[in-house]
Amino acid sequence: MDYDLMARLSEADGVSSQEGEVASILENEFKKRGLKTEVDNFGNVLAYKSVGKNPLILGAHMDEIGLMVKHIDEKGFLRFIKIGGIDDRTLVNQQVVIRTQKGLLKGVIGMKPPHIMKEEERKCVVGHTSMFIDIGAENEKDALAMGVEIGSAVSFPTLFFRMGKKLMCGKALDNRIGCYIILELARNLPDNVILMGTSQEEVSVFGKGAMTASYRLEPRAFIAVDTSVAGDHPELKPDDAPLALGKGPCIALVEAGARGNVADRKLAQGIFQFAKKAKVPIQIEVFDGGATDASSVYNLRGGIPSIAVGVATRYIHSSVGVAHEEDVESTIKLLRVAIGSL
Ligand SMILES: [Zn+2]
Repeated sequence: MDYDLMARLSEADGVSSQEGEVASILENEFKKRGLKTEVDNFGNVLAYKSVGKNPLILGAHMDEIGLMVKHIDEKGFLRFIKIGGIDDRTLVNQQVVIRTQKGLLKGVIGMKPPHIMKEEERKCVVGHTSMFIDIGAENEKDALAMGVEIGSAVSFPTLFFRMGKKLMCGKALDNRIGCYIILELARNLPDNVILMGTSQEEVSVFGKGAMTASYRLEPRAFIAVDTSVAGDHPELKPDDAPLALGKGPCIALVEAGARGNVADRKLAQGIFQFAKKAKVPIQIEVFDGGATDASSVYNLRGGIPSIAVGVATRYIHSSVGVAHEEDVESTIKLLRVAIGSL
């Protein structure tokens, strides 16, 4: 596994709708691998050797969950909204970085300390509306002079690292792992297959970028390359979340309790066969709570066969995701067979 590339992808900032830094890594790396690239109106990055009618599309969303500045007070403290599905508890007293026209600004999320809280307050979860960002500004004017604006994107400066023998930890593994996988698939890509970094997956019930691009391109099939919830830790039981690290790619048959994509049966059977051919174990998933870009593509036009293939990740939607390198590698093996056959 190319850990330098994986670290660069994880540490790049790409809060939904501001995916530019991730998009330029993808564009450059696709070009290095000899593919043609384009960035469409919606900010999706497309890469292919050649493209004709009804291509196969593999989409990996580039965006990550984060925050956005919504108000600057007279003392220079910032209030924010959440971008994507974030649990308020993961925000408490985190370090943050704010992307501005003048460069990156550092800050911390502040809130009332436990000493001052009333007994009842200590028992409650502090909501994000009771938190603020402290950038060290002296007042509003100073904050503005530092470059912060209403609408500035805020992310977490978590450093990527390797853990134990074969694990990795970092922010935005959901879904820079998917981005890494499509970059690996870019080597020896067949004709009429599009690898696509998609924008704004985390902020809609279903992904926005995958939808706009797939409507335009009318693929013969769509595979979302993403991450999924691993349940192999002390606070989850297999019947809550049956996926585990190191057990192979996760194939999502049902997303969002069948309100989202229900994988096309023929496509799913094909993926099972490709896994056998690639000699990789797979994990099958019926997901009640979440969805991928597949859920924004399956019902376009006259219906597009769609499925999600992903890598199990612990602590997903926090700034400390944990995943297994063998799952990344076996997903690449499986998808390599898939794109050569579909
Ligand atoms: Zn995702």
